[in-house]
Formats: sequence, structure tokens, C-alpha cells
Amino acid sequence: MAGIYIYSDKGPLAAELVGFAKTTGKAVNIVTFDQNSAASAAEYGADKVYLLAGDSLLVENNARAAAKFLMNEEAELFLVGSTPRGRDIAARIAGYLQCAMVSDVSSIVINDGQVSTERMIYGGAVIQSEMIDGMAVLTIPPGKFEAASGTAEIATVNINADSRVSLITTAPIVKKGVDISAADKIVCIGLGMEKKQDMQIAQDLAQVLGAEISCTRGIAEERQWLPQYIGISGETVKPSLYLSMGVSGQVQHVVGMREAQIIVGIDINDKAPIFDAADYGIVGDMFEIVPLLIQEIKNI
Ligand SMILES: Cc1cc2nc3c(=O)[nH]c(=O)nc-3n(C[C@H](O)[C@H](O)[C@H](O)COP(=O)(O)OP(=O)(O)OC[C@H]3O[C@@H](n4cnc5c(N)ncnc54)[C@H](O)[C@@H]3O)c2cc1C
Repeated sequence: MAGIYIYSDKGPLAAELVGFAKTTGKAVNIVTFDQNSAASAAEYGADKVYLLAGDSLLVENNARAAAKFLMNEEAELFLVGSTPRGRDIAARIAGYLQCAMVSDVSSIVINDGQVSTERMIYGGAVIQSEMIDGMAVLTIPPGKFEAASGTAEIATVNINADSRVSLITTAPIVKKGVDISAADKIVCIGLGMEKKQDMQIAQDLAQVLGAEISCTRGIAEERQWLPQYIGISGETVKPSLYLSMGVSGQVQHVVGMREAQIIVGIDINDKAPIFDAADYGIVGDMFEIVPLLIQEIKNI
């Protein structure tokens, strides 16, 4: 069946890609490789979920069969969640199909069979627009589209997986801290905060707001105060509220949070670029402003 095909090993991201695909009016199909993923994917609002059942769960072994399936179905576009596994299978499938591939796309427009995409390059300083004729494979990070929901039927298709790669062992990645990409409210600290003990003020604000704490790259990588940071090389977040303290708002940071519903920036420098991104800007010393803010929120 022609239409848009979707794969993501992260279920919520698959639902976001369905959310976009449904806006095109084309048939929307999800591809999965195991029964559990197929069962979850059946709730993401697609028209159909295909379980490509082979005897391997490895991307390396399934990509060729998946490419053949997409070709047989005359898929018009293959959208893949931009995760390590997603990027791996996307590249392999684009290679087998000998079609265009664009990675980490932030916007997609389909017009008369032509696909126009936008994505950030040069560390987020430039947005590159591309136009593709015919079949394309696109990888898309989380947080770009609203997730869809709804029930779909599951069709099982037997595939001949390669057996050239064997899995020897697996070990879980132990992720430190909360999953900041799923946080509804975020208090973000930047290098304007100089002493680690001052994080207490951010924690107090986060507590009254019911928010999680995150930071800029320097806080995480140089000072190692927190495990995860927001930005082009960190996490992409889409909270209802993002509030920064001592974050200058460089583009590499802002690209990771600019889709927050409400952005509040507190910075002592009235020329800080955070104020270009912010819905509400407070110019002043965070150590004076934040205690007042906490008190006001408590009064409410
Ligand atoms: C290839 C590349 C990728 C990168 N990726 C990322 C990324 O993913 N995420 C990321 O965050 N960065 C990233 N960076 C780094 C980025 O360019 C900036 O250097 C960084 O975001 C700045 O962090 P900051 O805002 O914490 O610090 P600064 O830019 O130093 O800003 C500190 C701010 O605090 C303010 N301030 C100081 N004292 C106070 C006070 N008492 N009260 C209120 N405000 C105060 C200052 O006025 C200033 O605006 C990347 C850089 C490169 C080159």
C-alpha cells in the first residue's frame, strides 16, 4: 500500500511521527519487528501496523528485508525516529533503496510528490532547506510534532532476515538523573551560577513549580553538576514551562528548548540573547529575583 511508513524503537516518538503523517492525508503505516512493539504501535493512530517477523531482532539483519518490504509496498516516504537504532536502520534502508536520506529534520512539507525539509546545521546556527523528488528516508528527533492516538490493525509479514550478524551480549545503559526530555516544567541553570551550593536556590524554585532541573552544557560537562543538559548536542525538550537562571541563550542551547510553550529567562545582562527567545524576560540578579519569585508562587 502506498503511503507513509514509520519506524521508531521509541513508542512515543512513533506516535509523534504518526501525528505529522496524518496531516498529509496519506495512508499511515508503522513498521515494527517484534510483537510487543507492534501491540504498542497499534495504539498510535496509524492506519495499519506491520509486524515484519523474521528470526532476528537486529537492525543489521532486518534492514535489507525492511527495504524490500517498503519497495514492494511502494512506500512514498519512510519516517524514522532519530534514536541511535533509528538512525542506524534509516541509513541502511536508504542505502538498500538507493534513495535520498535527510537526518534530524525539524520540518517537513509534502507537495505534489516533492518533499521539502528543514534541519539545523553548523551547531544550530543555520537552517538548511532541502527538496527531494521521490522516495526519501527522513530521521526526526522527538518533540517536533504532536503525538496521535487511535487503534490500528496489525498485519504480520514474514521476512527473511539476514543472519550475518550475531548478538553476543547486551548491557543496559544506566542513565543518570530524570528523563529531562519528558519533563513538563524545567528550571535550567547556566554558567551564571558560579557555586555548586547555589543550586539550592534552583532546587527551591523547581520544588514550588513542580519542575525538574536541567542546565547548559558547561554546567554538565565542565562542572559536572548535573548529568544531562539541553541543546543541540544535549537533550531536546518541549515542556509547558522552561525557566532559565543565568543562561545567556546561545543558539546551541536555544535549539534544544525553543519549542517550550512558555520560556522565561532571568539574566543580569539585558543584552543576553535569551531575551530574544523568551516570552517573559527578567533582567536582574537571579539571587535577588528567584527568592522573590518563590515567595510569590507560594503566596498564590
Ligand atoms: C558545537 C557546539 C555545540 C554546543 N552544544 C551545546 C548544547 O547542546 N547545549 C548548551 O547549553 N551549550 C552548547 N554549546 C555551548 C554554547 O555555545 C554556549 O557556550 C553555552 O550554551 C553557554 O552556556 P551558559 O548560558 O550557561 O553560559 P554563558 O554563556 O557564560 O552565560 C551565562 C549567563 O549568566 C548571566 N549571569 C551571570 N551572573 C548572573 C546572575 N547573578 N544572575 C543572572 N544572570 C547572571 C550572564 O549575564 C550570562 O548571560 C555548544 C557549543 C558548540 C561549539
